[in-house]
Amino acid sequence: MQRQSSYAQDQGKLYLVPTPIGNLEDITIRAQKILTNADYIAAEDTRTSGILLEKIGVHNRMLSFHKYNSKERAPELVKLMQEGAVIAEISDAGMPVISDPGYILVQECIKHDIPVVPLPGPSAFTTALIASGFDAQPFTYYGFLPRKVSEQKPYFEQMNIAHATSIFYEAPHRLVKTLKNMSTVLAADRQIVAARELTKIHEEFIRGTVSELFDYFTVNTPRGEFVMLVSPSTATPKQLTWPELIKLVDELVAKGETKKSAIKEVAKNNNVSKNELYDQYHQK
Ligand code: SAM
Repeated sequence: MQRQSSYAQDQGKLYLVPTPIGNLEDITIRAQKILTNADYIAAEDTRTSGILLEKIGVHNRMLSFHKYNSKERAPELVKLMQEGAVIAEISDAGMPVISDPGYILVQECIKHDIPVVPLPGPSAFTTALIASGFDAQPFTYYGFLPRKVSEQKPYFEQMNIAHATSIFYEAPHRLVKTLKNMSTVLAADRQIVAARELTKIHEEFIRGTVSELFDYFTVNTPRGEFVMLVSPSTATPKQLTWPELIKLVDELVAKGETKKSAIKEVAKNNNVSKNELYDQYHQK
C-alpha cells in the first residue's frame, strides 16, 4: 500500500498541467501559477510550448520530454525531483498522458514516492463527449486507433456491441478511409458524431449515420482536428443458453480461474442466478 499526499511541503513533485486545445483563454489561473513557479517545465515540444507560454506570460526553464526520449529522460527528471525540484509537465495541447507522453514519468514518480499532482483542465475527448448528445456514462476512450484497416476492424466490432459511448481520435487525412471501414462493421442506423476544431473558430459537430458522414466528408475534405464518437448500442443483449454459459465458465477455468469464481463472474455478467448456474454446471 502507498499513501501519497499531494501538498507535503519542501518536497519535489510532478504537476500534470493541461493546456488549451485551441482557445488560449482555457488556461486556468492555477495552471498559469504553477507553470510560473515550477523549477522546470517538461514540455513535449519546447518550441510549440514556448509560443503558448509566451502568450500567457509564463517565462520559465523548459526541458524536453517526448515519446522518443521519455525512457531516458524520466530517470533524469526523477533525480531532479528527488533533489527537491518541482516539475510541471505539459504536452502540446490538452491533458498530458491522454494520447500524449507522461505515463512513464507518472509511473516512475509513484515508484520513487514522489507526489504526482494532477490539475483539471481541457482535453479534447471530454469536451467532445459533453456536447455529443450521447450518454456520457459509461464511455470508452480508445485514443488513436491502429492505422491498418484490418487492425481497426476489431475496435469497430467492439463499438458495434458496446452499451457505452465510444470515443477515438482521428487525423483528418485518414478520416474518410476510417469512415469507410466503419461502415462495413457498424449497424447502418448507428449515430456517430465528428467533433471538429473544438474551442476554435471553426468548431463544429457533424452528426449522422456512418454512411451520411462518409458521403459528407467525401465531398467536404476533412480539415483540422477531430474527435469521433459512436453512440451506445441499444440492442438488447442476447440471453445465452445454459450450454453457452457453461462453455464460458470452462473457458475461464482453462485460463486459470477457479470454478467458483468463474461461475460467479459468468452469472454476474449474464444476469443469471449464481446458484442455478452452479447446479447446471455440475449436472453437465
Ligand atoms: N492530450 C490531448 C487531449 O487531452 O485531448 C490529445 C493529444 S493527441 C496527440 C491530438 C489529437 O487530439 C488530435 O489529433 C485530435 O484528434 C484531438 N484533438 C486535439 N485538439 C482538438 C481540438 N481542438 N478539436 C478536436 N480534436 C482535437
